[in-house]
Amino acid sequence: METIKHPLSAPHGTAHYELTSHRFGKTGGPKAYIQAALHADEVPAMLVAQELRKRLQALEAAGKVTGEVILVPAANPIGLGQVINERPFGRFDLSNGINFNRGYPHYCEQLKARLQGQLGSDADANVRTIRRHLRELVGQWQPTSDATTLKKTLLEMAIDADIVLDMHCENEGELHLYVGSSLCEIAQPLANLMGACAVLHTTGAGGEPFDEACSRLWWDLAAHFGPDFPIPSACMAATVELRGEVSVSYQLAAHDAEAIIGYLHVRGIVDAGDVKVPEQGCAPTPLEGTQRLDAPHAGMLVYLKEVGDAVRAGEVIADLVDPVSGDTTHLKAEVDGVLFTRLAHRYIIRGMNVAKIAGSKPFRSGSLLSL
Ligand SMILES: [Zn+2]
Repeated sequence: METIKHPLSAPHGTAHYELTSHRFGKTGGPKAYIQAALHADEVPAMLVAQELRKRLQALEAAGKVTGEVILVPAANPIGLGQVINERPFGRFDLSNGINFNRGYPHYCEQLKARLQGQLGSDADANVRTIRRHLRELVGQWQPTSDATTLKKTLLEMAIDADIVLDMHCENEGELHLYVGSSLCEIAQPLANLMGACAVLHTTGAGGEPFDEACSRLWWDLAAHFGPDFPIPSACMAATVELRGEVSVSYQLAAHDAEAIIGYLHVRGIVDAGDVKVPEQGCAPTPLEGTQRLDAPHAGMLVYLKEVGDAVRAGEVIADLVDPVSGDTTHLKAEVDGVLFTRLAHRYIIRGMNVAKIAGSKPFRSGSLLSL
């Protein structure tokens, strides 16, 4: 294991941040990039990273890391230093309110121009050519803040990987994945190994999250250049939501790390011995089919359904109770699907998101992610 420290801060500042990455195996073969807790205080992700580090060190010592793995165990040292009134606050950069998992560059337009006359009929050669340009483009990024230096540093390590796993957690939730639509099939062994309750797919969620910075350019370029210049979806990038903020245990972390090692085995990056991928798993559903259940008014929140439950349209997910009058609003599912996130707070104000349900029929468009 090679450990690398990446400085994030410019000279003359008062605070100096640095990022740590661990590298296993050797370059030249298939590459996986795994990062934990881009929103900083996402402990389930950081604990899985510790379990992964132990397993990867053991595999490497046994000569069983056949590809390359980069592991970033705590992807947001800036956010880890942010606390408001004794509560960790790592989702947004407090200096400007920007979400640490939004606003990554989409290099498609620049690549369309750069790749004119450089692609052929060999898909593998096209992948190598595109990755060479991608490394150059990320290298040319000139960050002007510690937070954008962080984003560039993470993307530099991930942009040419075959697998990118961006591990997060929800406020409350059951394990689920976000992937590009063309990646559903290749992501299914990961979903089945992890026991995901939902795989949410789209060709573009809006907001430019990290996983799409690594994956979306491939299908956008394929659509632009057409079948004479084959371009596969060469990066299986997934946002992996490891349940809720307090879903923290050594047992869960060990389970999730084993599942990820199993997937690295399936993809030929490690030799983990006898890995059995469960045949049964959830069917992927379009992100455009996800219902957001938002609070129509303030009140006490009483859930009647658990995360992971299958629900039907018309069923009550939660009651919203006025704390003075006792007047109660029943918040109902509008689609059939799986309840995959809830809120950890039990007193909420108007407009807060109460739950999300993965439905199979698309009905939403525009920006599909939370802020
Ligand atoms: Zn997150």
